[in-house]
Amino acid sequence: MERYDAPLRVESADQLLPLARELADRDAAQIQADPAYAVTCTAGCGACCSQAVPVTRAEVRAIQDYVGGLGQDERDHIEASIEATAATLASHGITATNVDDERAYFDLGIPCPLLHEGSCSVRPVRPVACREYLVTSDPIHCATREDAQIVRISATNDLVHGYQRVSERLGEPDVLTLAPALAQGQQPAPPAVPAKSGAAMIRLLRSTPRR
Ligand code: SF4
Repeated sequence: MERYDAPLRVESADQLLPLARELADRDAAQIQADPAYAVTCTAGCGACCSQAVPVTRAEVRAIQDYVGGLGQDERDHIEASIEATAATLASHGITATNVDDERAYFDLGIPCPLLHEGSCSVRPVRPVACREYLVTSDPIHCATREDAQIVRISATNDLVHGYQRVSERLGEPDVLTLAPALAQGQQPAPPAVPAKSGAAMIRLLRSTPRR
């Protein structure tokens, strides 16, 4: 196992989010470079972006901070998209914490409000779940959720669940659904918790067996 520079002490999940993203991207790059796989995910394919995306509060904060730093036009566009999505979600009674049936959520046909002309408008800070979603099947099956036809690749590490466990240990156990979490507005700041060992948190991040 490689060694990663990590803070000696970790006080919030936000501190380890860049590492979680980096590891997920490395897994994805290795898979995409492996001739044993023929990954069909490509830049600009948003076929999977109407699914219920699981996120931690730190991931939502990172997206909100990123959007806040964009230029006025981009920010206005994303904020309008989130507002429109919020109205649709509200009409269905969907909140960030009550999506129990992700297939029923998909069937509502609500695209991620961060999807713009088929591309992710927050790509540098997109959630770990989006980074880990890789398929070898035709993207049409992702878009139509013909689940029996979707062939997903299991990355080396299950960083989605690893990062959720890190977040839980750092005082934020909630797993939210991305679109309604954005619709509900600014996330609170991370809670004050006793600092944890950085090395222990990295082990936890990387050691979650894939479910
Ligand atoms: S955050 Fe980006 S990659 Fe993830 S579902 Fe939304 S648009 Fe798609």
